[in-house]
Amino acid sequence: QTRPMPQPGILDIAPYKAGEGHVAGANAITKLSSNENPHGPSPAAMEAVRAAAETLAVYPSSDHAALRTAIGEVWNLDPARIVCGAGSDEIISLLCQSYAGPGDEVLYTEHGFAMYPISAMAAGATPVQVRERHRTADVDALLEAVTERTAMVFIANPNNPTGTMLPPEELARLAAGLPGRVMLVLDGAYAEYVPGYDAGAALVDAHENVVMTRTFSKIYGLGGLRIGWGYAPAHVIEVLNRVRGPFNVSAAGLAAAEAAVRDTAYTERCRAANAEWRGFMQRELNALGLPTDESHANFVLPRFPGPEMAAAADQRLRAHGIIVRPVGGYGLPDFLRITIGDEVACRRVIAILDEFLKERA
Ligand code: PMP
Repeated sequence: QTRPMPQPGILDIAPYKAGEGHVAGANAITKLSSNENPHGPSPAAMEAVRAAAETLAVYPSSDHAALRTAIGEVWNLDPARIVCGAGSDEIISLLCQSYAGPGDEVLYTEHGFAMYPISAMAAGATPVQVRERHRTADVDALLEAVTERTAMVFIANPNNPTGTMLPPEELARLAAGLPGRVMLVLDGAYAEYVPGYDAGAALVDAHENVVMTRTFSKIYGLGGLRIGWGYAPAHVIEVLNRVRGPFNVSAAGLAAAEAAVRDTAYTERCRAANAEWRGFMQRELNALGLPTDESHANFVLPRFPGPEMAAAADQRLRAHGIIVRPVGGYGLPDFLRITIGDEVACRRVIAILDEFLKERA
């Protein structure tokens, strides 16, 4: 060898392809490709970031105590069993690093989030895709896929990019059916969009092998600050705190997230606005002849009559400065994932698709 080589399997990983449209200062672009909050963060979070900017030379809190306390109060969780990370991506990665390795299998659903197989492979483990039913996770298929090598199971609820979700009883059946040695990770990145949903917190309390991940990137509008968190049994928290870097979350991220999670009135307004315009988008898309599954998140997934139409519609939207997400890489070439924007963006998307489809009729 003439140069350092990565661990076996690393070069088999296809890099994560982020949503396009991240062009600084390009106001002409409407980015509906990464499920961001079109209304941005709470004003209280903005104020907290400004205040944090006064002490940038100082390292941030290492134990994230203030943020964990705030999350615990708002969600009624034990702050001692919360861990914070640079986005929930980091929590996912730390979990794989700590609980999966060569020879282990990591299960994820057919149209599950791309970081599950990437993080599994980065840990040297083997990702195993499990079929869904009607673009929805299938508990029986997941349980049947478990072997003696299975170390972890990932499921996002609601799921990205399908927007579908399992009812809590189905999650409970999955948790109860897995061997105790298999870790079940319930990814609640979009949980705040579902009224009354605890994102699996009660299952974490009831099982030694269930973990929940959450993010400040979606409804809280803080994707740019990279902050997420996990809720887990004490023994898992203890392990993650050994592996994570001491200053893995920035001071600005901690301050903004604490203010954001406490501003429950703002979160509720964002949830309600999303529900209203998601309803509009689903109705209008369906009226245009583009079916959608019922979405429980902040995006919709219309089906086009074939991959060429989906690609052409993507190009047409793009020509008007609207960037959405092709999901062929998720095995959904007939679909486009469209984040729910503000009213102006939603109406524009529908008008452009209406014109496009009339031309093609
Ligand atoms: N899980 C799911 C299901 C997601 O859609 C995303 C964002 N695309 C993430 C996790 C990661 O989000 P973040 O790292 O910004 O918290």
